[in-house]
Amino acid sequence: MESYYDILGVSKSASIEEIKKAYKKRAKEYHPDINKDPSAQDTFKKISKAYQILSDEEKRAAYDRMGHSGFEQAQKGGYGRGGNQSYGQGGINYEDIFGGGQDPFDIFESIFGSRGYSGGTQRQPSRGESIETVMSISFDEAVHGAGKKISYSRFAQCSNCKGSGSNNGGKGQEQCKTCSGSGQVTSNRSIFGAQYTQTTICPDCRGKGQKITNPCVNCSSTGRQKTTESITVDIPAGVETGIRIKYSGKGNVGENNSPAGDLYIIFKVSPHKVFSRSGNNILLTIPITISQAVLGDTLEIPTIHGTENLVIPAGTASNKEFTLKDQGVPDIRTQRKGQQIVTVSIEIPKKLTKEQKSLFEKLKVIESDSPSLLEKFFS
Ligand SMILES: [Zn+2]
Ligand SMILES: [Zn+2]
Repeated sequence: MESYYDILGVSKSASIEEIKKAYKKRAKEYHPDINKDPSAQDTFKKISKAYQILSDEEKRAAYDRMGHSGFEQAQKGGYGRGGNQSYGQGGINYEDIFGGGQDPFDIFESIFGSRGYSGGTQRQPSRGESIETVMSISFDEAVHGAGKKISYSRFAQCSNCKGSGSNNGGKGQEQCKTCSGSGQVTSNRSIFGAQYTQTTICPDCRGKGQKITNPCVNCSSTGRQKTTESITVDIPAGVETGIRIKYSGKGNVGENNSPAGDLYIIFKVSPHKVFSRSGNNILLTIPITISQAVLGDTLEIPTIHGTENLVIPAGTASNKEFTLKDQGVPDIRTQRKGQQIVTVSIEIPKKLTKEQKSLFEKLKVIESDSPSLLEKFFS
């Protein structure tokens, strides 16, 4: 199986610059507009995917950790909720390090700033831009999931011209005289004595074939205007910082009623006062007294789901870990809960009451009757 590194022809230790450079070189070579070999399209897709994974620090780390087949397997697994498939308008798509089978042409466009090389045909209406927005959520919301409203600004359809760009709802348009409505113009060129006919986008109407005679003043005839929108985000239980949700078609509307881009909500989880998180496990360190460590005790411990009794057996050493099963975070895909791992830290009292002091002194006297720790240690 060819690794993503092999596909790009870089070493496993390649820097991000090297990866980008390798991608650029290969993507240009195999872009279906340039390379007419039937297998070029497949190769182009492979290159794009390899670049998508290796250019993302988190994805690359997971890939290195899991190996090629393990990573691809995890990608195929998808999510229990949502999955990685694309949805229609307004659909939701969860993504994490395994998610996001990004369109290879989108990747190409983001690197080269253009979708392809061919310019001969009528200009496709360009899709609106996708928007990324960070949503801060509490530790609790990340663990249990929530519905939470967020406001963001985007380009929406112009309310005055309904996206047409002209007043009177699109009636103020006429056929472009330069290209007679075809959106393209042809010119003859001669290279090394050979004649070529070159077809390019009409510069007058930018390929639309129509010209606006009565431009909308509200949107400078782009057909869109800035607005603030709000959306209720369905925060999945188990989400972590960096995971993003895609809302298809909720990004910027394209110019003149062309389709909207997507909205990506990226989660940023605030830390908790006492709990921390490692994957789906919850970590908690609690202080216990010397007597509790020596004699044992049963303690009521807070968990993210409520409280649990923890039995500290007699003779517990400092930094011992205890596992509370199924008291961790639900897995975002399977909803299976992790554990809560409780570490005990024995607190040595710095200030003693008279009574405590006399008890410790008594203990010291008793301990001096038997061989000291040091003697045993060196014997
Ligand atoms: Zn308008
Ligand atoms: Zn024209």
